[in-house]
Amino acid sequence: MKTKRLRSKFMTFCMLLIGLIVIYQYTTNYFVKKNTPMPTELHPFVQEKTNQLVQMMAEKGITMIITDDFRSAEEQNILYEKGRTTEGNIVTHARGGESLHNYGLAVDFALKTTEGNAIWDMEFDGNANGTSDWMEVVETAKSLGFEWGGDWPQFKDYPHLQMDFGLSLAELQRGERPNVAIDH
Ligand SMILES: [Zn+2]
Repeated sequence: MKTKRLRSKFMTFCMLLIGLIVIYQYTTNYFVKKNTPMPTELHPFVQEKTNQLVQMMAEKGITMIITDDFRSAEEQNILYEKGRTTEGNIVTHARGGESLHNYGLAVDFALKTTEGNAIWDMEFDGNANGTSDWMEVVETAKSLGFEWGGDWPQFKDYPHLQMDFGLSLAELQRGERPNVAIDH
C-alpha cells in the first residue's frame, strides 16, 4: 500500500518535471526564433577577415577572388537542386538554412591567373615559390581563424572557408548568432 502511494507520487513528480522541461524548451526556442532574423549579408567580422586574406595573398603574388559569400536560404535551395532536379553537378549537400553561407559566415574562393581567368586548380603555382597557391591561401586563411572545407571528413568543399564562432548548425538554426567585435 505504502509503496504504491510512493510510486504514484514519484510518477506525478516525473510528469511535472517533463512538462516543465517541454514548456521551457518550447518557450525559449520560440522567443529566440522570434527575435532573431536571418542575416542578409556577410558577418562584418568575416568580411573583415576575408578582406585581410585577399590583401595578404596579394602581397604574396596570389590573386584570389571571392566567388560566393552570403547566400539566402532561397538561393541555397536553388543551389541544392542543382544536379538533383535541375541540370549540372551536385555542388552542395546543404539545403536552405543548413549552410554557413546562409548565416553570412562563409565564403568560397578561386584563384585568378595573370590572364584574368578564374581557376580552381589546386596545383597551380603562379607565384613560383614551390608551394601551390591554393594551399598558401588555405594556410593563411586558417591563421586568420577560418575553417577550411577541404578538411571535412565527408563531403570535401575545397573552395569553402568559414567561421562558426563555436556555434553548431543547430544553434544557428535556433536563432543564436555570433557575438564578436571587429578589431581595427
Ligand atoms: Zn562554400
